[in-house]
Amino acid sequence: MVDTMSSISESHRLVVVGGGVAGLDVATHVARKGTGDRQLEVTLIDREPAYVWKPMLHTIAAGTSDAGAQETVYAAQARGHGFRYEYGEAIGVDRYAREVKLAPLVIDGEEIVPTRTISYDTLVLAVGSRANDFGTPGVAEHCASIDSRSDAIAFNDRLRVELVKSVGAGQPLTVGIVGGGATGVELAAELIEAAAVVEQYGVFGASNHLRVVLIESGPRLLAPFPEKVAAAAQTKLEQLGVIVRTGTRVIAVDPTGFRLSGDELVSAGLKVWAAGIKAPPLLDSLNDLERTRSGQLVVGPTLAVPRDPHIYALGDCASPQLPGRDTPVPATAQAANQHARYLCRHLPALIAGKQVRPASYQDFGSLVSLGGFDAYGTLGRFGFFEGGFIRGRVAQLGHAMLYRSYQARLHGLWKGTLLWLIDTLGRRVRPNARLS
Ligand SMILES: Cc1cc2nc3c(=O)[nH]c(=O)nc-3n(C[C@H](O)[C@H](O)[C@H](O)COP(=O)(O)OP(=O)(O)OC[C@H]3O[C@@H](n4cnc5c(N)ncnc54)[C@H](O)[C@@H]3O)c2cc1C
Repeated sequence: MVDTMSSISESHRLVVVGGGVAGLDVATHVARKGTGDRQLEVTLIDREPAYVWKPMLHTIAAGTSDAGAQETVYAAQARGHGFRYEYGEAIGVDRYAREVKLAPLVIDGEEIVPTRTISYDTLVLAVGSRANDFGTPGVAEHCASIDSRSDAIAFNDRLRVELVKSVGAGQPLTVGIVGGGATGVELAAELIEAAAVVEQYGVFGASNHLRVVLIESGPRLLAPFPEKVAAAAQTKLEQLGVIVRTGTRVIAVDPTGFRLSGDELVSAGLKVWAAGIKAPPLLDSLNDLERTRSGQLVVGPTLAVPRDPHIYALGDCASPQLPGRDTPVPATAQAANQHARYLCRHLPALIAGKQVRPASYQDFGSLVSLGGFDAYGTLGRFGFFEGGFIRGRVAQLGHAMLYRSYQARLHGLWKGTLLWLIDTLGRRVRPNARLS
């Protein structure tokens, strides 16, 4: 019945859930395309009104970047690129009825829009990931996460209040971060930088009052990076005053801090959980499909779900099984980006039932940026300088280029370059930390 309905409709309803690195790219570039005989009618669903490039969320959390200056507003992007934007949180997918269910929209306690469903002919899931608490008691109640634009803004609101309070009271403020991956490492450095900046704007003593403790259960920081990168990052963090505790497992969190085995307590006024990743709860409604241990949907070589050709998944929420690759594709912006480009190019043909080449993944290296202090990285397995170690300005530029090329892709080269210029000029005329 559903098949007949969709084949006689004039357009093909493509619904993209999640407008992040992958989903926003797909919605932007696939809208206005056709599948041969039918026009694609694209709807993007996101629970936020705007997107901030996720790899810069730690700078929003620390306050060294301003979300308002960096965000892409979905309604504006939709208007400019010919897709529809639906504001709301997707809470379920009924793959037999081909419907996505959205939670009611509640603003200031008032229900503005009731629960609703959106029908699709093809569904693209790009809902990203969130930190994994591995069932540790107390994390949900006492720890902040830096998984979304709203999380990062909310953390910064609290950080600024707590820092001013601690300076006023003459007491130190300890920020404890669990997870020594890129998020934890980058956030630790950014917090040190933020304290130094706000000190210049009147919060005298902020640097002396802020303590940052970074806790990692593994034997070293930055496990997916080469040892040299991890060692350089740890040395730099320690020079900056960050207390790094590797090989340290948190068994519970309470209002005072992190409980370790042996009943040791690491006290922390502000607690951040940035360890591991797991897929968002939305994917639990697809429990009859194959998923990994961290909940990602297993997809085939064209990023379609093997048992449901009407559903595609990419980015952090997916685990693609690609020809010639026996290790998982990493959950990075780099992979989300490559697979978004693949779907932008091939999705119309796939929907039209044509054969296309399988997706692939190429590792162009990884970079970690310690605020304005330093950056380190490797050049990946491709290219002339295969596997080379880079640091300093070159690595910082490489990190910045990831973001700038994403902006250019979303907005076009001209507007992307203009945004870069405005940002650079803005940093010269505005305070370089969020102060209000
Ligand atoms: C601090 C930090 C630094 C990082 N640095 C790097 C880096 O240097 N290099 C790198 O390659 N990667 C980096 N990453 C990882 C990278 O950000 C992710 O791999 C990438 O963003 C994944 O893209 P995505 O499109 O899958 O998900 P996201 O970009 O996270 O987008 C997911 C979108 O889905 C929306 N969403 C989620 N659930 C729902 C729902 N139920 N209903 C509606 N909307 C929903 C979210 O609001 C969001 O807009 C970093 C991550 C963090 C947190």
